[in-house]
Amino acid sequence: MSLLPIQVLGSSILRVDTTPVVEITDELQLLIDNMFYTMHAAQGVGLAAPQVGRSERLAVIEVETQPLVLINPEIIEEEGSERAEEGCLSIPDIYGDVQRSARVRVRALDRFGQSFEVEGTDLLSRCLQHEIDHLHGKLFIDYFSFLKKRSAMAKWEMQKSKYPSLLRFLSPDDVRRLREEHDDHPGERM
Ligand code: ZN
Repeated sequence: MSLLPIQVLGSSILRVDTTPVVEITDELQLLIDNMFYTMHAAQGVGLAAPQVGRSERLAVIEVETQPLVLINPEIIEEEGSERAEEGCLSIPDIYGDVQRSARVRVRALDRFGQSFEVEGTDLLSRCLQHEIDHLHGKLFIDYFSFLKKRSAMAKWEMQKSKYPSLLRFLSPDDVRRLREEHDDHPGERM
């Protein structure tokens, strides 16, 4: 399996609506495996295709060791409201509170093209909404207040030079460091 470079904030593909998947090909299966591999290495709980430079309507999620492949996902029910901290694999080291629906029900296709529904509360609900946003060009910083966004962008400006060509390559050292750091931050990366 291969570690895929992650597109970071500023990359135009993060702002584009994805294209629904019409055929499950071997190439798509390989992409799904590589997305799980990359998400695990980056200590994330979710990863959407645009984050690895792809335009398919596809995301992978793993919350509490429950791997989920979501092809063409749609929110069909939502309820309540909850605020909690989030991080994004495409905007490293920036965290912030986001208000989201407390419970969602999502319909999607699995990696074999079978339709299924999944319901999530807490982190799973948050992650489902964060990834589906990615599939429509929306990022978690879009929910920040004006002031919070300004300070987050100032912090990002100082570190974006770490990502030439707006790509984040994970080295073995990065993977080790991320594993050690993970417990220090409450905001999950997705
Ligand atoms: Zn994200």
